[in-house]
Amino acid sequence: MSWSCAHISCIRFSCEGVLLKANVMKRALSLLPHLPRMRLYCSGFRSFSSNLATSICKQIKYSGPISVAQYMKEVLTTPHAGYYVHKDMLGRQGDFITSPELNQMFGELIAIWFINEWSALGSPKSFRFVELGPGRGSLADDILKQFKHFEKIFKDVDMSFHFVEISRRLSNIQYETLCDENLMDYLDEDNLEYYLQGSAKRNNVPLHWHRHIENVPRDKFTFYLAHEFFDALPVHKFVKSSKGWRELYVDVTPESNDELSLVQLQEETVASKTLIRNHETRSHVEVCPEGRTIISSIAKQIEKNGGAGLIIDYGHTGEKEDTLRSFKDHKLNDIFDNIGDADLTADVDFRFLLDNIESIDIQKSGPITQKEFLTNMGIELRLMILLQHCKDSAEKKKLTDSYKIMMDEKEMGERFKVLALSSKTRQTDSPITGFFSLTQNS
Ligand code: SAH
Repeated sequence: MSWSCAHISCIRFSCEGVLLKANVMKRALSLLPHLPRMRLYCSGFRSFSSNLATSICKQIKYSGPISVAQYMKEVLTTPHAGYYVHKDMLGRQGDFITSPELNQMFGELIAIWFINEWSALGSPKSFRFVELGPGRGSLADDILKQFKHFEKIFKDVDMSFHFVEISRRLSNIQYETLCDENLMDYLDEDNLEYYLQGSAKRNNVPLHWHRHIENVPRDKFTFYLAHEFFDALPVHKFVKSSKGWRELYVDVTPESNDELSLVQLQEETVASKTLIRNHETRSHVEVCPEGRTIISSIAKQIEKNGGAGLIIDYGHTGEKEDTLRSFKDHKLNDIFDNIGDADLTADVDFRFLLDNIESIDIQKSGPITQKEFLTNMGIELRLMILLQHCKDSAEKKKLTDSYKIMMDEKEMGERFKVLALSSKTRQTDSPITGFFSLTQNS
C-alpha cells in the first residue's frame, strides 16, 4: 500500500497517557502513515486489559490503523501472546468444541475416507499425511488408531505424519496425545524443516511438526486434512460504497484512548483493488489471501506428486457477508474484547478457494454439508454398532448427543462444509468417497 498520499485526518495526541510536545508531535505527524477514513462501524467499547491489546493500540497510535487481517493475525498468532499460541482453547473447558473432541466417530470415518482414497489412487507404497492445525491431536489419534486396524493392508507402506502447527503449547499437547511423552525434544524454532519430531505410540509412524505448510517436503504422494483450520486464517473486510469497494480497518476510537473500532477507509487499498472478484454482488465481503496461498499449495502438490485432501470447516459458497466473530467460553464475544484470550474466526468462502485452484488439473468434489458427507460415509451404521457394544447408559447418551451436534442442521450438520481434492490418477470411475449416497443406486 502506498502511504505517501496519506492524508492526516484525526490523530490522537496522547500516547500511554503522555502528552507529546507540539513540535515533536508535528514532526511525528508528518511521518505517520495515515489514511483518510470514515468511522462507520463501532465496537469494543471496553478498556484493554492484556499486554497484547495495549501493544496493538500503541502500534495503531504510532503507525496508523491496521487492516482487519493484520488485526486477526496479531490477536491469533503473535508469538507468546497470541490466542492460538498461548491458550488451550478446545473442549468443554475451553472456548469452543470441535467434532474430533466430541467423539471418535468423526475421526474413524475420516480415516476410512483416506484408506478408500489411498486404494482408489493405486495404493501407493509411500505417502505423507499432512494435518493442518491439529488442535489437541485427537483427530490424528483417531486416524492413527484406524490405520493400526488396517495394518495388514499398510504392511509394506512407508508413511509419515506431518503437522502444521503454529502453537508450541498445542504442539506439546499433540505430542502428549500421540507419542511417548518422555521423549519430547524441541529443535531450534528456526530449524528449516520441522521443530519437533516423534513416533506414534500406536504404530511407530514417524511424526513431524512444522510451522508452515511450505516446510513440509513436497516430493511424494501426500494426503492433506484441514479441519477447522481455514476459519482461523486472517480475512480482509470490504464494503461497497458509492465510490466503489472500500476496506474496513481497525483504529483506536478518537474519543477514547484505549478502545478499538472498525473504520471504513475513504481511499482504495491494494487489497480492495485486487481481492474483490469481478461481478461481485454482495455489499460486504471477507477475503482470505492466506487461505488462497495454502489451498493453491495443496492443489499444486496433489497435481504434481499425487494425493488427496479433505477441507472441513464452517463456511459458505460465496453468499455470506459479515461473518467475523469472536468466541470465549462457548459464548459470542465482542471482537475487540478479551484480546488474545478469545477466538476470532470467519466462515470459509469455499467458492473463493475453488476459484483460486480452477486451473489446477485435479479432481474437486463439493463442498457438501457435513451431514451429507457423514451420512454418505455411513455414520448411522457406525453409531448403531457403537451403541450396541456400549453398556453404560451415560456413555450411550454422550454418543447420541454428540452425533446430534455433528449432524443437526441447526448445529454443525449444515454449517460445516466438506470439500475434497484428489489427483486425476484415480483408478476407478466412481466419484470421490463420501460424495455420493451409498443408498442411491439400491
Ligand atoms: N483441527 C482441530 C483444531 C482446530 S483449532 C480440531 O478440529 O479439533 C485451529 C488449529 O489451527 C489449532 O491447532 C491452531 O493452533 C492452528 N492454527 C491456527 N492458525 C494457524 C496458522 N496460521 N498456522 C498454523 N496453525 C495454525
